[in-house]
Amino acid sequence: MRRVYLDHAATTPVHPQVAKVAVQYMTETFGNPSSIHCFGREARQAVEGARATVASLIGAQPEEIYFTSGGTEADNLAIQGVALAAADGRGHIITSQVEHHAVLHTCEFLEKRGFDVTYLPVDGHGMVDPDQVARAIRKDTVLITVMLANNEVGTIQPIADIARLAREKGVPVHTDAVQAAGNIPVDVNRLGVDLMSLSSHKIYGPKGTGALYVRRGTRISPTVHGGAHERGLRAGTENVPGILAMAKASELAQAEMPQRMAHVARLRDRFLKGLMEKVPDVRLNGHPTARLPNNASVSVLYVEGESVLLNLDLQGIAASSGSACTSGRLEPSHVLVAMGIPHDISQGSLRFSFGRGNTEEDVDYVLEVLPSVIARLRAMSPLGPGKKQAGPAGGRAGAARGRG
Ligand code: PLP
Repeated sequence: MRRVYLDHAATTPVHPQVAKVAVQYMTETFGNPSSIHCFGREARQAVEGARATVASLIGAQPEEIYFTSGGTEADNLAIQGVALAAADGRGHIITSQVEHHAVLHTCEFLEKRGFDVTYLPVDGHGMVDPDQVARAIRKDTVLITVMLANNEVGTIQPIADIARLAREKGVPVHTDAVQAAGNIPVDVNRLGVDLMSLSSHKIYGPKGTGALYVRRGTRISPTVHGGAHERGLRAGTENVPGILAMAKASELAQAEMPQRMAHVARLRDRFLKGLMEKVPDVRLNGHPTARLPNNASVSVLYVEGESVLLNLDLQGIAASSGSACTSGRLEPSHVLVAMGIPHDISQGSLRFSFGRGNTEEDVDYVLEVLPSVIARLRAMSPLGPGKKQAGPAGGRAGAARGRG
């Protein structure tokens, strides 16, 4: 059976050149970077080279990059680290309602420990209003954290505007760029942010490796304690193969970015055009233009996204309907809820995210399979134009599952 992977926002396959680098740093250059002998020195030199490569992807200085175990840890370190450094157990944080759970749950954790958090609403496209951010700033605001690109609907936030307004009031800005960095051009200075989270596995690097950019001069405390690794901000022997692999993935992403962006946007547009032509009552989720080039998040009316996914999976097609990080929970996605999408529409939400390995034949295969899956499910559904309405969700709630 043909297999088509359209879930690159959840994770990407490791690029063969990246895998080669990882193996080299597991088997040959395996020293501990803290060791003073030549094995250690080689590993140290490699890690510092990797730091410069990752820094270059986002226009940062090498000493502003701190390697972590991934995007989740980078988000935790940014938010908890700045909160701890700035306040004596209390203070105010501004975020948005559409953040990844790595941000939302970290904010909730701090809320339980005495911090105040403002969760800003978004518009129907999932966009945060920079003026609302500015109005939410208080004297005790210690951090603003708003993501650069949304993992579910792909909307790209006006971070440069938010950061400009925040800077006027002296409040540091963190952005979760896990879905953006390496997939679209990202520059910390053009954006004006103070902290930025990165992850390797969204850009054809391995899972469990990421980084936090911290602008020089930003006050931040460690959250993992131990040795003096990562200049005292993140203890733990460096994941040398992961770090070197992330650097290779970053280097390739930087070199191939225009081609990759054009490729996935072409496939995404072919897919959306075909879907809209073949299937009535399909809506695009997220911003029509300010969105990631590989993201096609849609709501298919009168079906449950979960049922569509299971049927697609039977035919070798992998996509997602909710968030991988909320796997198994039968709740509509918090992002679609925040965007004000009614429950009977959001339950039919599906995310297709394209990658460098996809082809036009992949898209055409999906366009062959998907319309008939939807037609079959709609024929069985109690919902639909002209049919009697069977409650807001037509049964059980739309499942949140399978998204990164
Ligand atoms: N932030 C966003 C926007 C994401 O999409 C993800 C992953 O799905 C994360 C953070 C977490 O990154 P990681 O999987 O590297 O922990």
